[in-house]
Amino acid sequence: MKVALVGIGKIAVDQHVPAIANSPDWELAATVSRKGSVDGVEAFDDFAAFLAARPDVTVVSLCLPPVPRFDYAEAALLAGRHVMLEKPPGATLAEVHALQALARAKGLTLYTTWHSRMAHAVAPAKAWLADKAILRAHITWREDVRKWHPGQDWVFEPGGMGVFDPGINALSILTEILPAPVHLTAASLEFPANRQTPIAAKLTFSGHVTADFDWRQTGPQTWDIEVDTDQGAMALRMGGNVLEIGGKAAGGENTIMGEYPALYKRMAELVAQGASEVDLAPMVHVADALTLGRRIETEAFDF
Ligand code: NAP
Repeated sequence: MKVALVGIGKIAVDQHVPAIANSPDWELAATVSRKGSVDGVEAFDDFAAFLAARPDVTVVSLCLPPVPRFDYAEAALLAGRHVMLEKPPGATLAEVHALQALARAKGLTLYTTWHSRMAHAVAPAKAWLADKAILRAHITWREDVRKWHPGQDWVFEPGGMGVFDPGINALSILTEILPAPVHLTAASLEFPANRQTPIAAKLTFSGHVTADFDWRQTGPQTWDIEVDTDQGAMALRMGGNVLEIGGKAAGGENTIMGEYPALYKRMAELVAQGASEVDLAPMVHVADALTLGRRIETEAFDF
């Protein structure tokens, strides 16, 4: 199937282009980006021009930041294209509900991707937890924003979500692996004095689940979820790619390079089945944290 990539920036170049190039299901048939392009692929700098010129490209994958994404997704669906959304799937919950209704009305596929759910150890962790009682869970997601989002000021603009941009990856795993849902009960959010979104967050959920997100960690980076159950301890490390049971290695593979190939495989299945997959559970927790969170002002931040 032919796919167009829209928004040729960091994640498109790092993950989407290689995942499509190595997929038996997909051909990268066009790009749409004001500045970016991919060698050997027809490049458009205007989305409407692309939609008019390439009716043969029936799938678009939107790799833009969340705030501009809705207009592109809506235009694509109105033009009869199936749509794959980067995470987080939108700037607000309501706009994704609107896209879901539009996709349903048009009989098109809408896929809200969560790449971290495709990490190597997430499915085995979910299977291990399925018959256990959760006593406590803690997420530690601490990374360096300068390393992972160099110069990307949109993450600190309204709708950019700040530290929830990576934190939502942890929440996408949590909402996938826990046998029963939890809900947020308290949050504290650290906002740099010169910014609109938090650089750090501490979250408390029902069921003794807590999370510590911080974007100021230099040196070793930490993406861990540790769970104590009535039948022992489990930990997911390296963003869900490595599994530990009772403190011992129990599977997975220490690389993130399996995640985007798995997303494109899933999109091919959804299009073939005429189905959609829209799950907003991780984003509900972020919205709740921004609703309920106590604001703490902290040192100004510049890239
Ligand atoms: P990015 O490089 O800053 O932006 C991607 C591209 O979107 C830009 O190159 C730009 O292309 C286009 N764009 C930016 N603002 C726009 C606007 N206002 N209107 C239209 N186009 C705009 O961002 P990214 O890091 O790739 O992240 C994009 C999405 O992927 C985010 O939702 C992020 O959460 C997700 N993601 C990122 C990472 C990561 O490691 N960075 C990992 C996983 C997922 P043109 O200027 O050429 O149009």
